Amino acid sequence: MRANEYLDRKIETATAKETASMQESLLARQLDYLFARSEFYREKFHAAGVRRKDFRRLRDVARFPFTTKEELRASQSAHPPLGRHIAADWRDVIRIHSSTGTTGKPSFVGITRRDAKVWTRLMARSFYTQGLRKTDVVVHAAGLTLFVAGLTSKDAIESIGAVFVPLGTGASEKALSMIPLLSVNAIHCTPSYAAYFADFVRDAGINPRELGLKKVFCGAEPGAGIPAVRDKLEQDWGARVTEGLGNADMAPIIFSECPEQSGMHFNGPDAVVAEIVDPETGESLPHETGVAGELAYSSLQRECVPLLRFRTRDRVQVLGTSCACGRTGFKLRCIGRTDDMLIVLGVNVFPSAIKDVVSSFYPATTGEIQIVLDKPGPGVAPPLKVVAECRAEPAAAAALKSAIERKIKATLSISASVVPVPAGALPHYEMKGQLVKKTYEDEA
Ligand SMILES: [Zn+2]
Repeated sequence: MRANEYLDRKIETATAKETASMQESLLARQLDYLFARSEFYREKFHAAGVRRKDFRRLRDVARFPFTTKEELRASQSAHPPLGRHIAADWRDVIRIHSSTGTTGKPSFVGITRRDAKVWTRLMARSFYTQGLRKTDVVVHAAGLTLFVAGLTSKDAIESIGAVFVPLGTGASEKALSMIPLLSVNAIHCTPSYAAYFADFVRDAGINPRELGLKKVFCGAEPGAGIPAVRDKLEQDWGARVTEGLGNADMAPIIFSECPEQSGMHFNGPDAVVAEIVDPETGESLPHETGVAGELAYSSLQRECVPLLRFRTRDRVQVLGTSCACGRTGFKLRCIGRTDDMLIVLGVNVFPSAIKDVVSSFYPATTGEIQIVLDKPGPGVAPPLKVVAECRAEPAAAAALKSAIERKIKATLSISASVVPVPAGALPHYEMKGQLVKKTYEDEA
């Protein structure tokens, strides 16, 4: 193993025992802090009948109650601006990030100087795992302002010594001219934008490969880990495409892929405990290959917004527990969000899984899809209506349509009705893609 393969060798290659022992002592300290500083948690623990002394071993975390996004929203509405779950003094807060949730109301996350330091190191480790080095010039083509992975990416990328180019969103024209001028060789963006920008460059009469991007760092939505989507992006750009996963309330990037591209490593054992829980029963599941469930995070060193067993609504599957790169953090892929899940005759299906199947027909399909719902989900009466961009001649379109439908049935065990549309007919998104189109009136 070469010396420059890890940013934090000791943490990244620790044995399971070493990691558990580190997390145990950090979590004990974080619990002391919660009991001392957080009225929000003292009340929750009291209601659940758990005491500080109930935590002795790492597995005891499962004796403590979960925290949900709804609770954080309610806490923030009742006690503006940051909520009753803020555990630091206002004078120690140095920055506020926010996310606009599905309800449209912003949700604020504050950080102290120490929180920022922990985030920066965790994110730097994640970028480093993805192959970022100090010789790289990275254009950040994603949100920069309130977005939790904006300024924090700047801190992390600069801390490695790489060059950070703060482009932001909606600036494809500028990106096209600046990338060659600055010898940019890496981009940080959503997978939707990586696909959108490739089309944009082609429309300008340039082969995307000529821009010389060699590293595409994706995040903020599933996509880059979907094999067919990744293959297409790698073909478009002639670059290695890797993805990261984080959470606006916990840390901007917590998992990221190494060059083996076989799932995202858990990179933050010193910052977060990452449990995989059964979404229905709440049971904590083992980190074993094949195990699937919802991610729940507990912070280990947080000052402003320490959270315990925070339910992310991200559905993940463990892909492995060892890796050729030598990192010992378990590897997973994100299957989708609980909120996006559809149930077709009792079978759970995520829109990203449909996109994966349709993309596997590339170049006969472009990979762009839209699932059309005419009634509120998650239950959908079969067949599931899937609009897919196809390049087939009219004569071959019917055969392609039924081939895709057969593959969806064989892979996902649901019936779908595929509606082929010409390439470019579906909206292309610069930020996060929208895989579901609702044709009914939303109640909210
Ligand atoms: Zn690896």
